[in-house]
Formats: sequence, structure tokens, C-alpha cells
Amino acid sequence: MDDCIFCKIVAGMIPCRKVYEDERVLAFEDIQPMAPVHIILIPKRHIATLMDADAEGMADLQAMMVAARAVAKLKAIDARGFRLVINCNEEGGQVVFHLHMHLLGGQKLRCGLA
Ligand code: 5GP
Ligand code: ZN
Repeated sequence: MDDCIFCKIVAGMIPCRKVYEDERVLAFEDIQPMAPVHIILIPKRHIATLMDADAEGMADLQAMMVAARAVAKLKAIDARGFRLVINCNEEGGQVVFHLHMHLLGGQKLRCGLA
């Protein structure tokens, strides 16, 4: 995807502060952190939204979950706790249309849906 920010990060055309990488997944520091730990996990293949994930996309999502656990350990918040969030489409608050998961932690997170 030529005009996708996260595809450009995967391609190395836009720099990122990488924290984890494997065959399917890249994880990097969010540019505007909402918590002391705020990591974005993405599939390396372009998938626009959660609703666009096919069978391969579901394998990517599984890999993202495994990666999230690894990142939580790397950041030493696995035992303290953390939150995983996927925003889907406009009312879900999705701004970047390349599937991604937020990993948030490093402080007591507030509850609430909106
Ligand atoms: P969304 O609202 O789409 O779920 O979240 C997109 C997230 O990507 C936001 O938290 C935003 O700060 C982050 N983001 C957007 N552009 C960039 C970028 O170029 N680099 C990094 N590291 N994060 C980005
Ligand atoms: Zn993309």
C-alpha cells in the first residue's frame, strides 16, 4: 500500500523505535504515547481493519497476541498488567487504516469505554 504510514514503517521508509520483530509482526513505540508504555503492534502485511482480516489475517492476529506477550515481558509489565486495544473503523477511533493493536501500561489504567 503506497500511501500507508505503517507499510512505510515496515519498509523502512519512515523510521520507528522498534521494540520487537518476527516473521509476521513489527512492534514499535507510539509516536504520541497515551501511557508510560504505549506500543503499536502491526502485521507486516497490509490489512486495513480488523474486519478485513481473512484466514491469513487471523494468523497475523494470533502472532500479534504472542508478540504482545513478548513485548509485555520486554517492558517488564507482564506481571503488573497492561491493556490491548484494537480500534476498528471511524466510531471505534481508528485513524491509521493498517490493522494495529495498542499495548498500554506502566501505570494504573482508567476504566471506561469512551
Ligand atoms: P488508531 O487511532 O488508528 O488506533 O491509532 C493510531 C496510532 O498510531 C496513534 O496512537 C498514533 O499516535 C500512532 N501513529 C500514527 N502515526 C505514527 C507514526 O508515524 N509513527 C508512530 N510510531 N506512531 C504513529
Ligand atoms: Zn499498510
